[in-house]
Amino acid sequence: MTETADVVIIGGGIVGSSVAYHLTDMGCTNVLIVERAAQQGLGSTAKSAGGVRAQFATAVNIAMSRYAIDFFSRFEELTGHTAQYRPHGYLFIATRQAHLDYLETNRRIQAAHGLTNVQAVSRDDIISIIPQIISDDILGGSFCPTDGFVDPYSVMVGFAQRAKERGARVWLDAEVTGIDVNQGSVTGVRTSRGDIATPVVVNAAGPWAKLIAAMVGIQLPVEPLRRKLVHTQAFDAIPARLPMVIDMTDGFHFRREGAGVLLAWHDGRDEFTYDMTFDDEFIEKILTRATARVPAFADAEVNPRRCWAGLYEVTPDHHAIIGPASEVAGFYLVNGFSGHGVMHSPASGRVAAEWILDGEPRTIDARALGIERFRTGQLLHETAVL
Ligand SMILES: Cc1cc2nc3c(=O)[nH]c(=O)nc-3n(C[C@H](O)[C@H](O)[C@H](O)COP(=O)(O)OP(=O)(O)OC[C@H]3O[C@@H](n4cnc5c(N)ncnc54)[C@H](O)[C@@H]3O)c2cc1C
Repeated sequence: MTETADVVIIGGGIVGSSVAYHLTDMGCTNVLIVERAAQQGLGSTAKSAGGVRAQFATAVNIAMSRYAIDFFSRFEELTGHTAQYRPHGYLFIATRQAHLDYLETNRRIQAAHGLTNVQAVSRDDIISIIPQIISDDILGGSFCPTDGFVDPYSVMVGFAQRAKERGARVWLDAEVTGIDVNQGSVTGVRTSRGDIATPVVVNAAGPWAKLIAAMVGIQLPVEPLRRKLVHTQAFDAIPARLPMVIDMTDGFHFRREGAGVLLAWHDGRDEFTYDMTFDDEFIEKILTRATARVPAFADAEVNPRRCWAGLYEVTPDHHAIIGPASEVAGFYLVNGFSGHGVMHSPASGRVAAEWILDGEPRTIDARALGIERFRTGQLLHETAVL
């Protein structure tokens, strides 16, 4: 017998779980998450650095982050689980006047959109946060104390568990192989575990989203981009508590992860691929880069097995695509977070659930994230990309 559901969500990562949470929160409980892996969270969710920030340049990203930070700070009350939200801040460091001007412009945009706690910081302020830093070329920066980190896996579990308590179901080991469309409307989903009759399908397949969209004939501009993280062994030569530190010279950034440090850098060699192999040569490169800014990193030790590569799901304008796909009634997109899918998971779940149940996003004005923008040329311009 064919299974039925009011909404089928393809992909059980942090985004699909948030959509399920928000749908069930709004009273739609006959929701089925279909996940091809044997457990949830093995896609990009497990690879994330868990950074959360509101310091963005566009109204919609700032609004999504403000929703998220409020949500993460009340996560336990809302879901019964911890998000491990640590508001340790994000520190952007400018070494060029253009970057300092850019931070100043962003601060004005951020304040105009209700984010009023971003502070301009001086070189001395930066030295007081991380005394070991090479500072001769630093002109200043910006700091937001409510930015910080969460544990992506815990967030995903919190969303999924609460959704399940309200009636949602999760199929694991169930690969979606096709989507049925009749007279322009979704009617069902075919999976390796059996078929499901449903009028609504949500594409929450992360880096694999374009393959799901292709099943209904939609060309989704979301590409998988390999990104790498290097986790040092215990390292006590810099402060135990640090914000995310971003050197705007070239985007090199780092933060504390337990007793070690998580180092990240887009060295320009990442590529569109589904290959998640971590290339060991990258360790030497990033340590050289790290040492140029913080000489103490010369003594950091790295175990290659504690480094990894994962996939960003990137769009041409580095903004997510959220909303209905107009060509196919009942098919919704929650994709293309371009490195921000963990921090924007609460808002994207809310926006998607409102599109599905109310026909429009009400809590956050996220209409600008519709896929139509790629047809109409109304792309968004976000330059605060890591
Ligand atoms: C190195 C790295 C660092 C990052 N750092 C940050 C950060 O600091 N902050 C931040 O906000 N974001 C960060 N991100 C981005 C973030 O991790 C992603 O945007 C987010 O996890 C996307 O979640 P998702 O649920 O959409 O995708 P995923 O977690 O990939 O989930 C998609 C799921 O769909 C399933 N699936 C795919 N195809 C099918 C199918 N045919 N049938 C059934 N299931 C299917 C997959 O198995 C997978 O579980 C980072 C990403 C990487 C790679």
